[in-house]
Amino acid sequence: MVEPFVEGIERLEREAASELAAAASVAALEAWRVRFLGKNGILTEQLKRIGTLGTDERPRAGQLVNQVKKRLEDAQALRRAALALAEEEARAAAEAVDVTLPGRGAGVAALHPLSVALRRIEDIFTGLGFLLADGPEVEDEFHNFEALNIPAHHPARAMHDTFYLETGGLLRTHTSTVQIRFMEQHRPPFQIIAPGRVYRSDAPDPTHSPVFHQVEGLVVGEEVHMGHLKATLTAFLEAFFGRRLAVRLRPSYFPFTEPSAEVDIGCLLCQGVGCRVCKGTGYVEVLGCGLVHPAVLTRVDIDPERYSGFAFGMGVERLLMLKEGVADVRLFYENDVRFLSSIR
Ligand SMILES: [Zn+2]
Repeated sequence: MVEPFVEGIERLEREAASELAAAASVAALEAWRVRFLGKNGILTEQLKRIGTLGTDERPRAGQLVNQVKKRLEDAQALRRAALALAEEEARAAAEAVDVTLPGRGAGVAALHPLSVALRRIEDIFTGLGFLLADGPEVEDEFHNFEALNIPAHHPARAMHDTFYLETGGLLRTHTSTVQIRFMEQHRPPFQIIAPGRVYRSDAPDPTHSPVFHQVEGLVVGEEVHMGHLKATLTAFLEAFFGRRLAVRLRPSYFPFTEPSAEVDIGCLLCQGVGCRVCKGTGYVEVLGCGLVHPAVLTRVDIDPERYSGFAFGMGVERLLMLKEGVADVRLFYENDVRFLSSIR
């Protein structure tokens, strides 16, 4: 009577062991445990069957079932530990960093060459005792033209291809507007520079851009004269270009200065011998300047009998193009990193 029961238990143990070996995850293992060892599991059912056996057979049958249950529980604990370890290893492998792979090479960020040039210009002038001044890019006709001695219908207005706004006003065509705004608020003596963006409705070409950068300079005090102007600009230009320079002032015309001059420096490429860049003259034009026109001082209630001053305006792109030998101004705005990182 007990032999079929024993065979049944032994078959059950082999079946359970085989399914345990096939359980491939902690979740599958738990399902296995419920199926064989759970409260309503197959082995518990077998224990209940012992009551149907003969009295003298029950101890042996009970002992057998308990031994099988103990072996299956031990095997299950071993299998659970092995599966947990394997899952942990798989997770670690998925998260692993292969330190032998080559790096991706993160690029180092840098300031745009125009920003570097502007900071350099500001450093040189603040070193000479100048203060920084600022003004709006959206201007009115008074500050952009009239206060600078450029009345309506003045021919100089045609030289400034101006962006007029539908809402009234205009985009400033030069940083000279800041001269007026500063002098409306301050009394001499003072010396300022005003760096900033300016706008002209020019079609882009190698030497024109509808937006570019200027630095305006203004010095007003008693007995300020052309000698101060030339000394200041020579000191600036030699510092900016990092070398001794031939500097010459050539008579010119601006409505807001009198006398007016263009400033030329000895050609950086041919050292004055004459080449393609300087068109054979040995000099290149770098900026415009002059003594502040008495009419401009009068407009902002500064007495031209007591005070005089000088002003200058330079294009930052032009200075940088000369310094670095850049042939096309548009390169500064196309943001090709190969170009930008070549300029320092
Ligand atoms: Zn030259």
